[in-house]
Amino acid sequence: MVRKQFEVVQRGIAQKQCGAYRTVSLNAALLLAGMLPLDLRVREVASLYEAKKGVSLRKLSGREVERMAPALEAPHPAERMSLEFISLHDQETLDRNSEHEIRIFTDGSRIEGKVGAALSLWRGGTETLTRKLALPVYSTVYQAELLALCEATRIASKTKATSFGVYSDSKAALQTIVNHGCLHPLAVETRRNIKSMSLQGKVFTLHWIKAHAGLEGNERADHLAKEAAVGSKKRPDYDLCPVSHVRRTIRMETLEVWNHRYATGSTASTTKIFFPDAVTAYRMIRKIVPRGTTTQFMTGHGGFSEYLTRFRCKEDPSCQCEPGVPENVAHLILQCPINFLSRDPFREQEEVKGAPLEKSRQLCDVWFRSYQLLKLEFDSSAAILFLFQPS
Ligand SMILES: [Zn+2]
Repeated sequence: MVRKQFEVVQRGIAQKQCGAYRTVSLNAALLLAGMLPLDLRVREVASLYEAKKGVSLRKLSGREVERMAPALEAPHPAERMSLEFISLHDQETLDRNSEHEIRIFTDGSRIEGKVGAALSLWRGGTETLTRKLALPVYSTVYQAELLALCEATRIASKTKATSFGVYSDSKAALQTIVNHGCLHPLAVETRRNIKSMSLQGKVFTLHWIKAHAGLEGNERADHLAKEAAVGSKKRPDYDLCPVSHVRRTIRMETLEVWNHRYATGSTASTTKIFFPDAVTAYRMIRKIVPRGTTTQFMTGHGGFSEYLTRFRCKEDPSCQCEPGVPENVAHLILQCPINFLSRDPFREQEEVKGAPLEKSRQLCDVWFRSYQLLKLEFDSSAAILFLFQPS
């Protein structure tokens, strides 16, 4: 019942979005407007909210979602220590900031779809300790970078030295750590560790360095992180599921339901010639942005004799090519001899000066001929994408 009401509201909006006739069905209008059915969107938002609150989702097969730490656990604003990181852009600033007793280089990496993080600890000019950390495939590199930084503070807390310099090439991760408003669980732990070290009189300085700038420690951490990603068979060191992954999983589920509705629905038969699959269409439609004439073609609701006769705007549904053969989109693409064999499409496009109806028909004809040619080599969706990509 509620879904019906959603559909009434959304159909009109979707039609306007793609410039479709008001007779176009909900299924076709949504697909061409690149919109998801409203009831499914509502369900998506609800699922995401629940996942963030810790309700386990069937699709995530029991994985725990990474949740922001409760604000109450964060230190009172008066007790926050001021944190910042130093950006090292050139060799000179780098040399000036390399005088720490212990330098720790951290990095996170994704390679072959796998994620890893690593640390390389230096005392003077020698590497004295390395650590590789494994993360599950659904993790993000950002998580890996944060994990490496957090691990650096854990190691530093246990090490007998008084001055530590930590070097990361991830600005995003460093910014998360110095921003007290951000309650990412790894950032919260990192800040807590840094604070307790400072209470013990240890100096812990964060630095940002440019990735792949040939810095020995950084290259080493990068190499180790890649090894950690590829070679790891052990249990992950950190396995909380990032919200981005949850969002993607929920979206996949929505698209599956939407596709089933679209494919099994009795409407949108012309649109299905172009887009047999709603999942692929959803990815492509934003690149094409169909409007006006293109939409007429992709819906079959436009200046076609058969359609016009159906709505009593014309008396004869026949195509120009042969009396008795209805002029519709399928005929124009697949059979009509006049509309896809006899004219030069590009010259034609320039010369169209006729009535709007005739003009739209001729323009569509151009597309159709190209479509027909491409259809021989690709499946229909790929052909459409190719056709409408700006050159
Ligand atoms: Zn014809």
